[in-house]
Amino acid sequence: MSRIIVVGAGINGVTAAIELRKRGHEVVLVDPGPLPHPLAASTDVSKAVRAAYGADEDYTALAERSIKLWRQWNEEFGTKLYHEVGVMFVRSRKMEPGDFEYESLKLLEKRGLKVARMDTPQLWKRFPAWNPELYRDGVLEIEAGYSESGRAVAMLTERATSAGVELQSGSRFVCLDENENRVKGIVLEKSRRNAVIPSEVRESRAGIDQVVSRAPSTSLGMTTLAGDFVVMAVGAWTPYLLPFTKKFFRATGQPVFHLEPSDPELFAPERFPVFGADITTTGYYGFPINRDGVVKIANHGAGREMSPDSPERVVTADDEKKLCQFLVSTFPSLVDAPIVYTRVCMYCDTHDGHFWIARDPEREGLVVAAGDSGHGFKFAPVLGEITADAVEGKDNPLLHKFRWRPEVRAGTATDAARSK
Ligand SMILES: Cc1cc2nc3c(=O)[nH]c(=O)nc-3n(C[C@H](O)[C@H](O)[C@H](O)COP(=O)(O)OP(=O)(O)OC[C@H]3O[C@@H](n4cnc5c(N)ncnc54)[C@H](O)[C@@H]3O)c2cc1C
Repeated sequence: MSRIIVVGAGINGVTAAIELRKRGHEVVLVDPGPLPHPLAASTDVSKAVRAAYGADEDYTALAERSIKLWRQWNEEFGTKLYHEVGVMFVRSRKMEPGDFEYESLKLLEKRGLKVARMDTPQLWKRFPAWNPELYRDGVLEIEAGYSESGRAVAMLTERATSAGVELQSGSRFVCLDENENRVKGIVLEKSRRNAVIPSEVRESRAGIDQVVSRAPSTSLGMTTLAGDFVVMAVGAWTPYLLPFTKKFFRATGQPVFHLEPSDPELFAPERFPVFGADITTTGYYGFPINRDGVVKIANHGAGREMSPDSPERVVTADDEKKLCQFLVSTFPSLVDAPIVYTRVCMYCDTHDGHFWIARDPEREGLVVAAGDSGHGFKFAPVLGEITADAVEGKDNPLLHKFRWRPEVRAGTATDAARSK
């Protein structure tokens, strides 16, 4: 068995740590914390869980497995982390072959999943918040929904430590400890949060204690941590912490809004499933009202390139203006709803929109598990095993899709559900 250092305790890191520990390895999980980290992409009130992936059967099959396991996690954790409220992708015109929505419907039907075509007024009557004049067609995936991602990461982090993973929270990866083409471990900086100055301004959102601003911590100096393998699972920080990966990854910021509707009933899950509204052109998607009385709407678009630690990481007036135009056209009853929270959440984009879970062919002992491209969280129940297979050099057909692929150039096709 090996000693494995997993850097980053977002969903990629924590699931890899649990699986590698389960396979008998000694595992150290490193993250500056607090956990779930407030700036992590995984730390959020909700993430869509869908099998609708256009014509891509790999992701559809993986999502089908993940959905079954999310139900199991609800049992195991004794709380609802995954809400099966349905996911609808709708269009303002009739669906045609080649459309993300049309191909999703066809593939889900072929695989025997419970779906409905959204092309009858009767069906639309069930969803009164929508502008009935604008949307004509679409697919409703019934056995799908959303997961409470921040809560899931918190529970999985507890599961990791109780499984014997050594958690080094308060430690920050600085660089690889390598010579020639062998990675021997990492150099990290230990830090202590400053007890005197209130280190953070915190607010509770949907049961997650979120940091809304942060004071500096005190460095306790550098140290090296040795390991047989290093798994870098630092999401959008990857191109900044591993500069040689800058040609493969791009960190992009995406605007997220929380709105408080004056008529919450209209946005209850049975009347307002998770949605994508002409998502390949508008980029907008959203979620039913949650326990905090909030409707989250965000954009799955090109985003703005920036470092996850950039001061630019705030929602702009232009983001708000575009959201308002979208609401006027699609959800008239949300136009006057106050925006109670905004956030810029970070994608680690690859050039083709596929994940990157692979050994570095030039650095023995290094595995990079990143490249979520804004659609990785739903696979939480299966991500760990894929990364563990990459570490152990095991055969896994998906590892070809997620391989180390410098040949893939910028501008190659992206995720079928993403607006350009
Ligand atoms: C706006 C938005 C919406 C999304 N919606 C969906 C959705 O609906 N469905 C879906 O399936 N997916 C969705 N995703 C994608 C999903 O959030 C990601 O796939 C997933 O969270 C990526 O997890 P990660 O572990 O790679 O990165 P992160 O969650 O970002 O974790 C990275 C970790 O690295 C740590 N780190 C950073 N620097 C260091 C350092 N120097 N040393 C040690 N650790 C460090 C951080 O503290 C953090 O904990 C969305 C993403 C965004 C941004």
